[in-house]
Amino acid sequence: MAIGGNAILRANEMGTIDAQLANVKETCKHLAEMVKGGYKIIITHGNGPQVGNILLQNEEARGKVAPMPLDVCVAKTQGQIGYMLQQALKNELIKYDLDNKVISLTTQVVVDGNDPAFDAPTKPIGPFYIKKRADELIRKNGWIMVEDKMRGGFRHVVPSPQPIDIVEKESIKLLVFDKEDKIVIAAGGGGIPVIRTKEGFKGVEAVVDKDLASVLLARIVNATSLIMLTDVEKVAINFGRPDQLDLDKITLDDAIKYLKEGHFPPGSMGPKISAAIQFLEAGGEKVIVTTPNSLKKALKGRTGTRILP
Ligand code: ADP
Ligand code: MG
Repeated sequence: MAIGGNAILRANEMGTIDAQLANVKETCKHLAEMVKGGYKIIITHGNGPQVGNILLQNEEARGKVAPMPLDVCVAKTQGQIGYMLQQALKNELIKYDLDNKVISLTTQVVVDGNDPAFDAPTKPIGPFYIKKRADELIRKNGWIMVEDKMRGGFRHVVPSPQPIDIVEKESIKLLVFDKEDKIVIAAGGGGIPVIRTKEGFKGVEAVVDKDLASVLLARIVNATSLIMLTDVEKVAINFGRPDQLDLDKITLDDAIKYLKEGHFPPGSMGPKISAAIQFLEAGGEKVIVTTPNSLKKALKGRTGTRILP
């Protein structure tokens, strides 16, 4: 289960803890229902809106508190969102008399320091800005900003390299394959990006897309299905155009073709479809993209977009 950062905090919301917890609680209700129904799940989550807000706090407190690099900011969001999920999911499991332990694990993901993504930032993080403010931030912080015409506004983009490996994979396996039914939350926010150096692992300034990291996670635990919960009920082609067509069920080949045709932009739907392709090519059985509220119906094939081999 890969839960979108946008399903927890919308990029245009203030993001009070109450608002985020309410969204998390709603999602966890559906997850607990799945667990009750006999599914074994492993959870990962995004952090785009949250990590962007932490960067903003960095900027506002400059001169008073040392700003933290992006890898540390990602680690902070793993703690924050992991905490919310641990609490909310446990509370919902208890309502079903389930006593699964819920554990979130600080997770590092290895990337290549020479990944071309470092020269071409694509991953939008934080809030939407109007053009005037965007121009100010470009000047003041040297940020790279891109316009999201569909959702109206400019967003800060950061490098999003390909994840290669999960440093804590053996620990994840130990937890997941333990006799007790543990629900593990790992590789949050795409994992803390690190590179291998002669001196060992070292954090780098990037945000890995959680959809791509979720494929590594899925492989580690031999998951059969990859479910991505986001803020649209279905994947579409011609998205945002008058001839938009929502997709119910497509094949791996369709997904490859539509991706090539440019229906899925980088930084949002692109990585989800790339993740779906990677997962199915590696032997995965099913991919679902939908909203948390539609999860139950989507599992029965009655909504959402299913991508099958
Ligand atoms: P998440 O936090 O769940 O990863 P993203 O913003 O990264 O969310 O991706 C979901 C967004 O992708 C949707 O809100 C939608 O605006 C956008 N999107 C772009 N292209 C498409 C498409 N072809 N079909 C559906 N949604 C799309
Ligand atoms: Mg995303």
